Amino acid sequence: MIQDNINFLTDGLASENLTKLVSGKYVDFVGASLVSRIFMKSKKPLSMKHSQRAINHQQTINYVPLFIAPAQVLRGENILSQSGVAIAALGKRPLVVGGNHTLEMIQPHLKPIIQEYKLETARASYLPDCTESSLMKLRETATTHKADFIIGVGGGKALDTAKLLAHQCQIPVVTIATSGATCAAWTALSNIYSETSAFQYDVTLARCPDLLILDYSLIRTAPQRTLVAGIGDAIAKWYEASVSSGNSNATLTIAAVQQARILRDILFQKSSAALENDQGDDWREVIDATVLLAGVIGGIGGANCRTVAAHAVHNGLTHIQSAHHALHGEKVAYGILVQLRLEEMIQGNQLAVSARKQLLEFYTDIGLPKTLEDLGLEHISLSQLRQSAEVACQPNSDIHRLPFSVSPEQLMAAMVSTKELVESPVGRETPA
Ligand SMILES: [Zn+2]
Repeated sequence: MIQDNINFLTDGLASENLTKLVSGKYVDFVGASLVSRIFMKSKKPLSMKHSQRAINHQQTINYVPLFIAPAQVLRGENILSQSGVAIAALGKRPLVVGGNHTLEMIQPHLKPIIQEYKLETARASYLPDCTESSLMKLRETATTHKADFIIGVGGGKALDTAKLLAHQCQIPVVTIATSGATCAAWTALSNIYSETSAFQYDVTLARCPDLLILDYSLIRTAPQRTLVAGIGDAIAKWYEASVSSGNSNATLTIAAVQQARILRDILFQKSSAALENDQGDDWREVIDATVLLAGVIGGIGGANCRTVAAHAVHNGLTHIQSAHHALHGEKVAYGILVQLRLEEMIQGNQLAVSARKQLLEFYTDIGLPKTLEDLGLEHISLSQLRQSAEVACQPNSDIHRLPFSVSPEQLMAAMVSTKELVESPVGRETPA
């Protein structure tokens, strides 16, 4: 059994609008917690009610906040069964938030903890999605139950809902990841969707979760497709962070981009073996990569390592009903190919050509989608494709972090040519 108990940071409540001009200069938005500890020179963590004051203070004297990691991370085989002390330390009246199926699945795992620590527990589904109306209902449930902390269980959307609910109620949150599909268990970010599951906007949270539980035995029960999607979402960190970081010389930005490169290489090296044997070391390393390291990169890189075109393409695709069965990481993986194709088509970037060729081979090996057809969108109409491209090219879209402008027409052309012929030593051929 592996048990890591990482006590990085504790508290520090940041406002949502820290990405702003401070002393006339754009500030790296990397969170409040670490800065609270470093710059305030406080030996004790700040309590939440004092934290906003601290943030205001930080802004006036040019502090750069950092959201690097959850306060505590417990990981290992069957680690949930040994997490009672850490969970009960956060309160007495948890509200457990997840999908209907996951809430049923997790019940036998949580029951012994609830009984041993005499927790007064309520549970609520976040479905149909992480929407404003779901959050409103959940806030009512949390108030009625007098919840003093939230336990989020599930994949990206369930955990995003639980984190944002806790943020809005200003109470702690535990994230229990049930798949390797995203790094949502780690990050201080939630995505909001519409009632029809179309991406709306993201919300930067006050801090990373108070406790993250990564139980390998629980994650092993998830469909393998979720891990494949998680690999797609995690590998995007490199292709997006290396663009969005620009020519930054900032220490933490450079560190984050280099970690993103390492993450990419780990996934290239270990994904196939991981998917073949979920009992092996490679499988555990790949889970650590998709759930933990991907989150670290977002934490350290902050505003300089945000998403670019790959996630913008994902966001556009969520506005097409027939794309809803595809997982987040599957759409993002396809979006990386689109981003590289744009760099080729508009910039004439030859490195993007070889990067795309390398990814096409990797996707073939592990089963990530390479085309709209692979995403099940072979019957997509031209107007649907245009709608999705227009959403991805909206003025506030991350696609504009690319160092050139992109029109919906150019994006549409890239979206239908992700597997475009690639030069090979024996001539032009379509990669398998
Ligand atoms: Zn993502």
